[in-house]
Amino acid sequence: MKVKLLGTGASEGIPAGFCSCKICEYAREKGGKDLKSRNQALLNDKYLIDFPQDTYYHTVVHNVNLGKIEHAIITHAHEDHFYPFELNHRCPPFNLAPTDYPLNIYGPSSVVEKYNKLSPPIEDKYVRVHRLKAFNQYKVGELKLIPLPANHGGEDMESFIYIIESGGKRLLYGTDSGPFLAESLEAMAGLYFDCLILDSNSGFEPAGPYHMNINDNIDLVESLRDLACVDNKSQVLLTHLNHNSRLIHEDFERLAKENGFIAAYDGIELEF
Ligand SMILES: [Zn+2]
Ligand SMILES: [Zn+2]
Ligand SMILES: [Zn+2]
Repeated sequence: MKVKLLGTGASEGIPAGFCSCKICEYAREKGGKDLKSRNQALLNDKYLIDFPQDTYYHTVVHNVNLGKIEHAIITHAHEDHFYPFELNHRCPPFNLAPTDYPLNIYGPSSVVEKYNKLSPPIEDKYVRVHRLKAFNQYKVGELKLIPLPANHGGEDMESFIYIIESGGKRLLYGTDSGPFLAESLEAMAGLYFDCLILDSNSGFEPAGPYHMNINDNIDLVESLRDLACVDNKSQVLLTHLNHNSRLIHEDFERLAKENGFIAAYDGIELEF
């Protein structure tokens, strides 16, 4: 399986547009890995995870032709993960060469509800939305997908983390989420993950109820080890870094490494 993270920042990104904190000012000056756009991933060069406000920026920076993407898997309805307005541009008159297949969007009820509020609605031949149910198993192209409830957004907004399998390898896509819910951990028990991508919003600062910090990541990986989900060969990537972590990328990388993790940055690629 091939994974490329197109965006690895939190809701407001780093630098946050309106913010002059030390972290944001440093990122403006330094650029490179300190610039963290909103969360999105590309699997096997053709499946998107999430569709944030920065999707257009990612198409330019990472040379992705969205018109050729057939499947996008969405975690939840927050704008830094699902910004449906941009989907209008898949249709004429904005798109002069539409494909004869639609873009399929898969996600929890919160994503379907948000999409259905688009006005005017988008024709089915351009975009089709599919509601997924937690704990069910789905086939999306050659991927096998199991959505599980995320610890995120409260009762009003259904949010998923995903177990994704391809070519005999297994990925856990675990952002956005606070420490995983017991029912989700139970569903993972005994499933081995080659790679985990985890919400690591806050460095060692308090993360609030719906995100994790590095201490939470350490505890989570220990629980997953007890459930035979990870071993020393599993690669653990930390993503969704927020400027409220008070970390520049170099420090994030060092702290992640000290704990056996990889600090993600925009454009990082992994193959396993
Ligand atoms: Zn987010
Ligand atoms: Zn800032
Ligand atoms: Zn969120």
